[in-house]
Amino acid sequence: MQLRLTRTAAAAVRRGHPWVYREGLARPPERLDTGASVELADDAGAFLARGLYDAASPIAVRVFDHAPGPALDAAALGARVLRAVARRDGRFGEDTTAYRLCNGEGDRVPGLVIDRYADVAVLRLDTDAWRPHLAGVAAALSAPLAARGVTAIGLRVGGDGKKLDALAGRTPPDRVLVREHGMAMEVDLAHGQKTGAFLDQRENRARVRALSAGRRRALNLFSYTGGFSIAAALGGAAHVTSVDIAAAAHATAQRTFRANGVDPGAHAFVSADAFAFLEQARARGDRFDLVVSDPPSFAPSERARARALGAYRKLHAAAAAVLAEGGVLCAASCSSHVTAEDFAGTLDDAAVGRGDLRLCELFGQPEDHPTLPAWPEGRYLKLAILS
Ligand code: SAH
Repeated sequence: MQLRLTRTAAAAVRRGHPWVYREGLARPPERLDTGASVELADDAGAFLARGLYDAASPIAVRVFDHAPGPALDAAALGARVLRAVARRDGRFGEDTTAYRLCNGEGDRVPGLVIDRYADVAVLRLDTDAWRPHLAGVAAALSAPLAARGVTAIGLRVGGDGKKLDALAGRTPPDRVLVREHGMAMEVDLAHGQKTGAFLDQRENRARVRALSAGRRRALNLFSYTGGFSIAAALGGAAHVTSVDIAAAAHATAQRTFRANGVDPGAHAFVSADAFAFLEQARARGDRFDLVVSDPPSFAPSERARARALGAYRKLHAAAAAVLAEGGVLCAASCSSHVTAEDFAGTLDDAAVGRGDLRLCELFGQPEDHPTLPAWPEGRYLKLAILS
């Protein structure tokens, strides 16, 4: 099936943008199954690209290739995934067993994310277009992943219960212990967020670890399963306070502390709203030498952007108010609708109310979370380090 695009949509596809919104189709097809392999053409009928169709999503086509070729079937899709997997070969040593094997659009495998947690691979679909091909793709992945030490392949699913289905190989365990630059981390594959953990913060956790040497008190806001907390403790922070509204995440964090030989009883795990905690800490006169803030996305849509920037400013003001003199503030944002420049602006002097802080570094995503030049939506992660 060939689909013609509007001029604007065709120009975006030529630049390498991986999405065609439904309004970018000159004549949306009346009947075309989700998962169908389509050819894209410009308004003059000239070939542009190949992709997979999604009948229900606002993103009607995800683009895989700019060269003509056979239809995208399970074999072709499996080969695409394996190219992404092979690009990680040799990039991570023995001391890092959790990383992203396939970053969807950013790896030119749009709509499919695969994270590796030691000997388990977890797939996440961002479009149903993968579903008709999934069994074939999983079968194609089994042997090459097993050769790399991955013996269980699971699929992330929605709903309130267990969020992981077995797809190929061994049945994945509910929990797994991984290593990140030598640091142990327990990952809740069955019930955790994303595919289990936030692997995109791996290098930032290592940075926090390095920044923690000689610090007395560290505060990790929105701590989830305590990745930044254990990094701070191992890095030398004498006392670490982890704050998250979800009490269940603290139990995993405490097991992670123990797995690293650190007594969680010597640290604080607080189940509270971060804003309320910060207000009480300020009023009590508590001060911290290192503060990490990594909230959930405040801007789920472009429309929510302005309100999100206001929320980041409020959060950063409250965090700076408990930062000791000479302390370091590590502030993150995972919203793709907030650019790095916008985010830096939420840490300006008027927002944080301090004249002593400087923006020392501003990081994005690690190499296993690549993006495309024409796809700014993929560059969502920011970490600003101020001291
Ligand atoms: N920093 C973590 C990831 C944080 S995810 C890591 O590197 O692994 C965001 C976390 O914020 C979730 O665990 C969620 O429970 C928590 N959260 C959401 N709203 C909150 C609030 N108002 N106060 C405190 N925690 C909150």
